[in-house]
Amino acid sequence: MKSEAKPTIDPNLALFERAQRSIPGGVNSPVRAFRSVGGTPRFIARAAGAHFWDAAGARYIDYIGSWGPMIVGHAHPEVVAAMHAAIERGLSYGAPTEAEVEIAEELIRLVPSLEQVRLVSSGTEAAMSALRLARGATAGAGGQGRRKIVKFEGCYHGHADSLLVKAGSGLLTLGHPSSAGVPADIAQHTLVLDYNDCQQLEDAFKAHGDDIACVMVEAIAGNMNLVRATPEFLRTMRALCTRHGALLAFDEVMTGFRVALGGAQALYGIDPDLTVLGKVIGGGMPVAAFGGKREIMKHLAPLGGVYQAGTLSGNPVAVACGLATLKLVQRPGFYEALSARTLELTQGLVAAARASGVPFCADAAGGMFGLYFAAAAPQNYAQVMAMDKSRFNAFFHAMLARGVYLAPSAYEAGFVSAAHDNATIDRTLATARDAFAAIA
Ligand code: PMP
Repeated sequence: MKSEAKPTIDPNLALFERAQRSIPGGVNSPVRAFRSVGGTPRFIARAAGAHFWDAAGARYIDYIGSWGPMIVGHAHPEVVAAMHAAIERGLSYGAPTEAEVEIAEELIRLVPSLEQVRLVSSGTEAAMSALRLARGATAGAGGQGRRKIVKFEGCYHGHADSLLVKAGSGLLTLGHPSSAGVPADIAQHTLVLDYNDCQQLEDAFKAHGDDIACVMVEAIAGNMNLVRATPEFLRTMRALCTRHGALLAFDEVMTGFRVALGGAQALYGIDPDLTVLGKVIGGGMPVAAFGGKREIMKHLAPLGGVYQAGTLSGNPVAVACGLATLKLVQRPGFYEALSARTLELTQGLVAAARASGVPFCADAAGGMFGLYFAAAAPQNYAQVMAMDKSRFNAFFHAMLARGVYLAPSAYEAGFVSAAHDNATIDRTLATARDAFAAIA
């Protein structure tokens, strides 16, 4: 007797349809919805090392690593053991712990500019708190604080109101909200300049120097693909902030413990006043931090008048995960091996593209990489936007169908972990040769 063939429904699609009934867009963070590349988001069931598996049981080599945190690979046994031990001691106390002191000491020891840190639960919270602190710490004795902050087009610092701002219509005009729900009254205090443009920085300080509380920057930008700051750009920024009494804040949520043990500030040799951290310092759990010079940090409550607090700040289970991860990245040769592996990936991709005649280049910084469907690496947001997005999308799907999961957007950086061994990179490159040939 012939059994009737049941129509097979992709479990990912079924979950996506179900998710959209209860969650806006079916996801809890927009990029996960695959809007930029089209197609069905993969719902992840489990992960180990350099791989994850979707709801249909398909395995992928993972090049997003939870967008940065999973630098030692998924479910690393030492990290898992540390978390199990922490869980046994209770999940959250709302009172201080020794582990928080330990991770603070560790961060201060490893990130060159840090003298004190405050732990929070997300990069958004850390960047938002750093800005409030910058405004509070630069307020004069009369209490009338500086209002303006400077950011750069294409950099992302989380979704606080002051940071969801795009450039005004002309150079140095007041910023406009880039999201519905952000009051123009708030956006007007954010100046949005072009990345890597020293002249615009000079002009901004000339026009508003007395009113700028803070310049916030990703020294290696990972939210417009990957774009490196020039050393001159960062040096100019440092000098102008110092001269005008503004604070320089490096947002190292992505670059911290990712491009080097000491972050981008160690690579460039720049001493920011404030640093924002996240991702790797939590190892996949919600830990983020902001910190800087003691003279600035003393303005935070309970010492000073800048208020900031959090029920789950410094959560003991999350901190155990972060500490275990930070211990692993300090093993001798960790960043050398990670950088070499990442470089092997990007160089191999460039060779594969060339073999198929696809205009393509790539860049790597530590365990972070950028893929550009363009003749040269971009220097700013406009150049990123000018790249061939439809070619990227075709490549993304060609790789995904063959079991390699890249960031589902042409405007995001990619991440390699210590679990991406030579065999994994080789398999990725063999896949890429097929994928480039298919899209050429
Ligand atoms: N700053 C940077 C540089 C980031 O890359 C991100 C997140 N990708 C954030 C801040 C915000 O962090 P979170 O998503 O943890 O709020």
